[in-house]
Amino acid sequence: MAKSEASATRGTVLEVGEHVILIDNRQRRYLIQLEEGGEFHSHAGVIPHDVIIGNSEGSEFRTASNARFVGLRPTLSDHVLKMPRGAQVIYPKDLGPIIILTDISAGARVFESGVGSGALSTALLRAGADVTGYEIREDFAAKAQSNVEMFLGASALDRYEVKIRDAYEEHEDRDFDRAVLDLPEPWQVVPHLEKSLRRGGILVVYNPSIIQVQNLRQRLAQGPWAMIETIEVLHRTWHIEGHSVRPDHRMVAHTGFLTHARLLAV
Ligand code: SAH
Repeated sequence: MAKSEASATRGTVLEVGEHVILIDNRQRRYLIQLEEGGEFHSHAGVIPHDVIIGNSEGSEFRTASNARFVGLRPTLSDHVLKMPRGAQVIYPKDLGPIIILTDISAGARVFESGVGSGALSTALLRAGADVTGYEIREDFAAKAQSNVEMFLGASALDRYEVKIRDAYEEHEDRDFDRAVLDLPEPWQVVPHLEKSLRRGGILVVYNPSIIQVQNLRQRLAQGPWAMIETIEVLHRTWHIEGHSVRPDHRMVAHTGFLTHARLLAV
């Protein structure tokens, strides 16, 4: 059985059923799940799972050709980058700011659509939210639920309800504290959120294209929304080696825009 993150992070020793990230000398990461008799095969040779099981997190493991791998439990960020995907995910660079912009706290009731591969859902659930997700595609809904379970364990599914629904249509669910949208035409969901989000509630929308942002902003400007702001998050890594201390040559220059707003009582 897959161990949940909650139980997995307590002990230092890596156990059967846990997920582990193996990192090579060039910082490449490989996600495996430990099973008795299992084997990790890489370009540099094989590491039997039995060599890893029972060792401390952070240990080094070597292949027969002496290639070195470090074993660590995956972070949420590792999970999002390595988990099976259906739809395109929201990357850790944007997930962090979304958690702050939505101001999620334990027990917050969150509306999310679409759920896609469940990357954002996992981040929201991990921050303690109760999530109601609307997803139009059954296969994506199933993938999102299995990705959530893979990282957070089956108990997280008690706080995660996914409905196969078109979010552009009116909904009966009510009393959400927060709403997060990642779908092509978020402005079509805004009128429904004006009824289902509680006054003072926060909406955060992720959009890859500025044309989408413009349409969304026009719709928000017509409704009882305030504190409306659109941002983008730039994440640039640096190369730091001896006297060569400079930004890396390559970066992900664009993922999406984040627009956030609060619902007024008028
Ligand atoms: N935020 C997700 C990715 C969402 S991708 C993650 O981090 O993993 C966008 C999703 O919106 C897709 O799964 C797509 O099927 C869904 N979608 C598109 N239109 C929709 C609609 N009208 N109602 C509900 N879901 C919709």
